[in-house]
Amino acid sequence: MTKQELLEKIDVLLLDLDGTVYLDETPIGDAKNTLERLRERGKQLIFLTNNSSKTEEEYRRKLVRIGLWGAGDLVYTSGMATVSYLKKKHAGKKVYLVGTEAVRAEFAQAGILLDEADPDLCVLAYDVELTFEKIRRLNFFLKVGKPFIATHPDDVCPTKDVPMPDVGSFLALFKRSSGRDPDLVIGKPFPPMGEELSALTGVPRGRMCMIGDRMHTDVRFAANCGMKSVLVLSGETTRETMKNFPDKPDLVLESINDIL
Ligand SMILES: [Mg+2]
Repeated sequence: MTKQELLEKIDVLLLDLDGTVYLDETPIGDAKNTLERLRERGKQLIFLTNNSSKTEEEYRRKLVRIGLWGAGDLVYTSGMATVSYLKKKHAGKKVYLVGTEAVRAEFAQAGILLDEADPDLCVLAYDVELTFEKIRRLNFFLKVGKPFIATHPDDVCPTKDVPMPDVGSFLALFKRSSGRDPDLVIGKPFPPMGEELSALTGVPRGRMCMIGDRMHTDVRFAANCGMKSVLVLSGETTRETMKNFPDKPDLVLESINDIL
């Protein structure tokens, strides 16, 4: 796929965050201007993240603060995709949610019934406020056979220095203690988040493009969902490490700023 084809055939650009549009608190190069020009060309921009420790509003505030937010943009997290999935497939069911207080409030406001005593199913989000009591309780519900959904599979979350343990690391803990793997994982690279994005936008997946810096989440996600993909080399992946993965991105760019 050439850049020209990308700009002609794609209506929705799914933008990974860290390593793609910013590094920590700093936009990558002139990303602000690049995103503005994409909006002028009529592209719907959706900031897409697997990180389910923060809410839609928390991400929007950050993107506004660092100057990357524009009129018509959307934020979509694996937590929001999980809410949407639960409302469709488990309507009215009681959920034991392991998540931050802000994310628990986001689920409740969206109409998900949260229950800690006798839930119908369990959801593990990226809980940076995790306690032993929450671990004990989730392990109990897994041992008695409650359905188990994880928001996303990432082992670690990037930081300026040492990466932090993320949901994938906690899944390893629960596998050891309960013998259970999640019955379903919602976020990148798995298809449920792609299905929720199709429903959200009403745009066919062939007219959506995932732009990201990780082969095993961003590029794999596009391949799993029938979307186009752009790998940017401004984050985790280099031209060398790219070759260690089975998927081929449709386009490789040094950074998002090379898209125009
Ligand atoms: Mg990234």
